[in-house]
Amino acid sequence: MPGFELYGAEERKEIMEVLETGIFFRYNHDEPRKGIWKSRELEAELCKRTGAAHAHVLSSGSTAVATALAACGIGAGDEVIVPPFTYVATVEAVLFVGAIPVFAEVDETLCLNVEGIRKAITPRTRAVAVVHMCGSMAQIDQIATLCKEHDLKLIEDSAQALGTTFRGQHVGTFGHAGTFSFDFFKIITAGEGGAVITNDKAVYEASAQYSDHGHDHIGNNRGMEQHPIIGFNYRISELHAAIALGQIRKVDHMLERQRANKAAIYEFLRQYRQITFRRIPDMEGDAATFLDFLLPTEEDARAVARQLAEAGVGVNYWYDNMYHYIRNWDHIRQLRSPNRLHIHTTGHQGYENYNLPKSDHLIGRLISLGIRVTWTPEQIQALQEKMKNVLDKHFAIAHV
Ligand SMILES: *Cc1c(COP(=O)(O)O)cnc(C)c1O
Repeated sequence: MPGFELYGAEERKEIMEVLETGIFFRYNHDEPRKGIWKSRELEAELCKRTGAAHAHVLSSGSTAVATALAACGIGAGDEVIVPPFTYVATVEAVLFVGAIPVFAEVDETLCLNVEGIRKAITPRTRAVAVVHMCGSMAQIDQIATLCKEHDLKLIEDSAQALGTTFRGQHVGTFGHAGTFSFDFFKIITAGEGGAVITNDKAVYEASAQYSDHGHDHIGNNRGMEQHPIIGFNYRISELHAAIALGQIRKVDHMLERQRANKAAIYEFLRQYRQITFRRIPDMEGDAATFLDFLLPTEEDARAVARQLAEAGVGVNYWYDNMYHYIRNWDHIRQLRSPNRLHIHTTGHQGYENYNLPKSDHLIGRLISLGIRVTWTPEQIQALQEKMKNVLDKHFAIAHV
């Protein structure tokens, strides 16, 4: 899946241009930077690729979600509906802006859906943070309509979904703001980095200010501008932006390879009647970074995932891992923090007794195979053989 398979001359060239000027800061220094503005260039590329009117790049996908929430006006005591299946950063971001994460069920899309969101809405709900998990997408048209009806802000955490579209429209552009991550495991990887995209100029301006101490970035006399709002330092460096710029130009190639490689494995796996697949609302828009499939039971999934891993097949069994599903988020469930989170003052009791039977039933049976860009036909064949050995054996034993 990730861009780290493809580092090369393109990224080196971008980095060298920054090193030659010595200006690693994304703002000002107009004279010595000699026209090198990597962060700005990356923002232009993101707008081009996603069709969003505005993009602001910053330090990470996590700070992107927090910034997007803040820029949309979400703060103290507001409830934000989140999925229990995501990278934990989505939930942390809600807590870090002083808001309250409210977990809703996911469905066969492995994302939030209208039914789950509707059940989680209360008079204090102000926003929904949809996560387009594993390179595919939520049924985002229906969710956007529901959010409009209820006057809720819609933030799309698209950290894992650069290149993913729904009916030709890039994810992250259906609501008020979308976010991306360029960390080491994502589709494009700059080491660290992230972005907020939006069609709303006010959200863009608030994002740019919030992620840089409230600087308004008007004029080029750093330090003498106005501070319209309080912010913090969530800036990206020009070096990271440079790497991401080298990477983003490879996305079309990545998508093409991932889709072909995923299709080959899918054709093989669908022969097993015991295996079903994640529902993908628009197959053509799938970035194909993962092949997500479901086994009949949790026991089947755990056993098969273990045997596949032992056979050298790179699979994830999210239900048992520590960072992607609520079941193992003891720290979140108990709201453990070195300081007092705002949520403690609302009478919130934590999430010890979370009740998400549909999500448990799905994620407990889910296995995700990470798709590589650089697989050769021989490697794909070898992978299929390893999977065949494990699956034939498992199902023969399990279902005699
Ligand atoms: C990776 C990820 C993030 C956080 O991105 P970082 O750049 O690592 O901070 C947020 N949300 C989701 C869904 C992610 O997968």
